[in-house]
Order: sequence, then structure tokens, then C-alpha cells
Amino acid sequence: MEYAKLVELYERLEKTPSRLDKVGMISSFLENLDDNDVRMSILLLQGKVFPKWSEKEIGLAAKTSAKIISATSGLSESIVMKDFSELGDLGLVAEKAIGKKTQMVLFSKKLSLGNVFENFRRLAETEGAGSASRKMNLVSELVSSASPKEAKYIIRTITEDLRIGVAEGVIRDAIAQAWFADVEWLGNAGKKDRFISLFLNSSGKSFVFDAEGAKKAKRMISEEKFEDFIKRNNVSEKDLSDFDENLLWKREGKIDYIITGDDSLGNDLYKRIVGYIEWAWFLNPDYAEVAIIAKNKGIIGLKKAKITPGRPIHVLLAEKAPSLEDAIESFEHVALEVKYDGMRTQIHKDGERVWLFTRRMENVTAMFPDIVDMIKRHVKVEVCVLEGESVGIDQKTGKPVPFQKLSQRIHRKYDIRKLAKEIPVQVNLFDVIFLEGEMLFDQPFSERRRILSEIVEEENGKLQLAKQLVTKDIEKARVFYQDALSAGQEGVMVKNLDAPYQPGKRVAGGWLKVKPIMETLDLVITGAVWGTGKRAGWFGSFILSARDEDGNFRECGMMGTGIKEKKTADDDVTFKDLTEMIKDDITTEKDNMVIVKPRIVLEIAYEEIQESPNYASGYALRFPRLVRIRYDRSPDEADTIERMNALFMRQKGRG
Ligand code: AMP
Repeated sequence: MEYAKLVELYERLEKTPSRLDKVGMISSFLENLDDNDVRMSILLLQGKVFPKWSEKEIGLAAKTSAKIISATSGLSESIVMKDFSELGDLGLVAEKAIGKKTQMVLFSKKLSLGNVFENFRRLAETEGAGSASRKMNLVSELVSSASPKEAKYIIRTITEDLRIGVAEGVIRDAIAQAWFADVEWLGNAGKKDRFISLFLNSSGKSFVFDAEGAKKAKRMISEEKFEDFIKRNNVSEKDLSDFDENLLWKREGKIDYIITGDDSLGNDLYKRIVGYIEWAWFLNPDYAEVAIIAKNKGIIGLKKAKITPGRPIHVLLAEKAPSLEDAIESFEHVALEVKYDGMRTQIHKDGERVWLFTRRMENVTAMFPDIVDMIKRHVKVEVCVLEGESVGIDQKTGKPVPFQKLSQRIHRKYDIRKLAKEIPVQVNLFDVIFLEGEMLFDQPFSERRRILSEIVEEENGKLQLAKQLVTKDIEKARVFYQDALSAGQEGVMVKNLDAPYQPGKRVAGGWLKVKPIMETLDLVITGAVWGTGKRAGWFGSFILSARDEDGNFRECGMMGTGIKEKKTADDDVTFKDLTEMIKDDITTEKDNMVIVKPRIVLEIAYEEIQESPNYASGYALRFPRLVRIRYDRSPDEADTIERMNALFMRQKGRG
């Protein structure tokens, strides 16, 4: 396939604000591709060439990309940089520069998708001495035979700033639409116009209606037009209440559309399709592979998704409980566990091989050889996946160090063993989800914990099971909670002993966390303002945003408090730290303000949430203050405007 085809899709996606339309465009694009093109396209639509859990990334700095544009277009670097500061998008700069190229290469080869993908892969794999120039060559090779539009997206891909508004959920829904029947319920008010146009314009498609659906459709377009519709398409009527779900797969059921008059039934069928796709993705977090299963094996294939040692999964998440009492009352059989303040660690073992992943599925195996050693010595089974929290320990006090300190180990490339001695870790195991080839999700937590205690030989203070107390007695629970806090831990987790393990979910009925602090918000930095006076040379305040329901970031405040001018303690965050973290993410610069790619998540405390017409979120934070950097959260896990609204309502109720 030609890369130009994908570029044409990128262009259409960029211009389309509607999520539904984006899903439709991607699904009809994917529908007719072979496996290999599906795989490459799905990764490239997410701006990637490896799944998100891979350590290999494409990212090149803006400066390097500017050099490439200059070298391939013949424009000077200073002109390229000037265009960049005006347009705020290196992709557009590349498009313009290549468009202007005076000596057009007349017989340049057309770029194939495979070529582009392969060069991007090599780019991500190139390391070590001389890698900078090899990387430049790989991209220059592509850009010099690219059309202006192709150059735009090659550059946007390497700067990891695709700007086509395609979140993971859009890819998931596009997979559903490409290879499964499109389930529609006619009470879906927002789609009425689409239904009418579907019935009036489609032809040669296969439709299954239930009686109520057919009746409503006739009412929408008239009996007569419905007769015409039936003549143009292959239409049948069925009772859908016990519909065989395997027929939802287009290859099996040969159905393009299932139309029901029963909204909850429609919703349920649709959610099932999406649910199976998501399930496979929770266990194999790569939509490129999930798409191939959906395409070739349908629902049966998706249901068979299984953990593969060495590949991280989406883990179970916790909910907040309003109080310890509330949490304990939530379940019949409860266990309290210390909530350790460290790094969620997913531990995979297959014989002598061990892998470690964070909650965001980063592979941190190389940075924690001490954990790998302990697992090899103390876990008495061949194959398993365990879950735990790794805490950095202060050698003098024996207390946990702040996460910030432990995180020095997370991105470390050199002197790893030395740092492991300076900041030793303690692993607190709390679950086992895979054992000798079998998934243990359906076993109740009490049973999983029992198995865990059998397969792990504890080494006190080093590798141990999370401290646990099974009780319904609130007085005993309070003592346990206070003990956890005085030991320097975050609080407690209250767990339902009867609950299964649900990957990827923040589920009611699973884990409840109880922490003493006020409810902070996790917000994303989307911009900053240069500081003056003592803060000159650094950003002095930061624009914070929350997520809206479409995954866009909407501003809700400016923060300059809680950040230090000088580092005096390990967990201090300075203006310099934050400036360095975001300065490569700048997309637009105007006067003393910059807009940055949403990447860094901060935990923010505040006095009050106020309604505000000045901010896009509709809310403003009063006296926002930095609590810490949430290295463990990605922007798509940041708090939503909906949560701000809930907190705002609650605060009003109190006030
Ligand atoms: P939070 O990040 O505040 O939503 O809290 C959930 C996190 O607490 C999990 O992702 C774990 O990293 C961490 N955690 C610490 N101790 C435990 C425990 N005993 N059980 C489960 N999670 C724990």
C-alpha cells in the first residue's frame, strides 16, 4: 500500500471534529486491508511503530527535525525555525518547505507504507554512538522522496505530535465497526439524521431488524421508502433477544447492520462487541494485534485472549472510599492491606526469565536487577504473574523514601547496581493473576492470596506479602490504619475477599483506597508562562487542564505555588525541574506564554473549586498548589471535568 493513502486519511481525520465520523473513516479504511497493512496502519494512526508497552520510541527532538527539514528542502535552518515559531507545528513547516523545494526530484519513487514503517522502526531501534546522524539519515531518506503532505506527517510522527485527534477509544470503536456488525438502536437521539440517511442511501448491504426496529424505521422514512430500501438491500427480521453473538462477526454472520427498537438490547449488544475487543486489549495491550484477531477470528478469538509472560497487561485499579467505615461496610468479607507508597510492579516470570512493568506498562526490568534476583530466588514456580508495590527504603531510618526518590531508579541507564545499593527496594506482593499457564482472574481474592503465600518464600523487609488484616471490627481497622500511616505509608486498601480480579478496570466491588489527605486533582500541564525576576529563565507559572469527555484538555487554572526555587529536600520540585520537563514539548509560543503537549500530570491541592467563565473547563481552582509530579499517570488518566463538577457540587453541599 502507498503511504499516501494513510496520509489522505490523516488529513481527513485532522479536519473532522466528530468522533463518530473519525470512527467511520478509520473503520472503512481498515476493512479492505490485508493483515500487514492493518497492523502498520493501526500503529501509525497512534503515531507508533511498536506497542505502547515497548521501550522503543520514535521521538526525535524538535531541533533535529528542523535540521532534517532544512537539509531536505534546501531552506536554511534559521528560516525553518522562524516558520516554526510562526506556525507552531513542525509538520506544517515541513509541508511548506517541501512544497517550495525548487529542484523537484522528478522521478522520485512513491513512498510505500512498508518503507515508511520500516524506517521508523529502525529509527526507534537505533542507539549508541553515531546514532544521531543515522537517525537523521533514516528520516531524510523518507522526506526527500515525500510529497509535501507526506512530509507533514512524517515530521509529525517523528516529533510525536500527530494532531489527528485519534485516542485509543476511537481505534477500539473503529475495530468494532470494521469487522463486526454495526449495532444501532433507533432511540439513539443523537444519531437520528444518520439513521434516516442510512435507510435512504444504502444499497447492497445486509440488515437484520427486530420487529420494533422495523416499525420505527418505517415511521422515520415512510412505508413506501422503506419498501424501496428493502429492494435495494438484503433485509431480514429476527427476534434479537437471544441472538447468537458469534454472528455479530461480519465474516460469520454476514450482517452489516443490526437495527433494534429496543434501546437497552442494542446498547447491550454493542457493549458486548466493544467489551470483547477491550478484554483482548487489556491482556494484550496492542490494538494492532487485537485488530488482527478481530479480523481473522472474531469474538471466539477475542475471548481466548490470554496473558503472555513478558507482555504487560492492564491492571485492576482502585476506587476511592469516603471513609474507613464506609469501605469496611462495602463488602461482606474484607481484608485491609497497607497501601504502600511506591511503584506498582507487575512481575512476570517464565523459568529463569523475569520482567518488571509499571502500572503504565513501562518495562523497568533493567533498572531493578535486585528485584529480578529476589524473584528468581524466592518464587517457587516456573511461570507466574504477580502484582506488588515496590517501595524505596531509607537505609538510615528504615522508612519508605518519597516516590520521587525511588523514581530516580526508574529512568536510570547507568550505574544501576550502584543506585540499587543507595536506594534499596522492598517489594510488597499483593496478588497473583497467572500461574503455570492458567489465568486466576476468576478465583476469589482470598484464594489468590492463599496461593501467593504458598508460592513465595518471604524475606522479611525485602520481598514480602503486603501486610494484611482480615476484620470487620472498625476499632481494629482504625489501629491498622494508624499504624500504616505512622510507618510512613499512604493509607490502606480495603479489599473484597470474594472478588475476582478484573484487568484494566476501576471496579466497584474490588479495591477501595482510604487515604487521609484531602481530595486532590491530577491535572495536566498544557502551557506555561515565562517567569520574571528571580524566576527569569524558567517558567514561573503553569497552565493546568482537566480532561473533557472526548479526551480533550480544558484549562482550569494557573499554578505557581508549591514549586521551589532551590532544592533543599529530595522530594522538592523546582521551577528548573518543571521547565526542563516541558521545554521540549512546546508546540506554540506567543509573547511570554507557551502551549505544550499534554504529557506531564501533576497532583494539585487547592482551596476551592469555583465556577469560571474565563477557563474552557468552566471551573477555576482557587490557590492551586503542587503536591507532586505524578510520574505514574499518563494524561489520559488525569482527572476529568466531570470529577471537578462532582467535587464542586459536594463542596457546595458542605458550604
Ligand atoms: P491510587 O494510585 O491512589 O489510585 O492507588 C492505587 C495504587 O496503590 C495501586 O495502583 C498500587 O500501585 C498501590 N498500592 C499500594 N499498596 C497496595 C496494596 N496493598 N494493594 C493494591 N494496591 C496497592
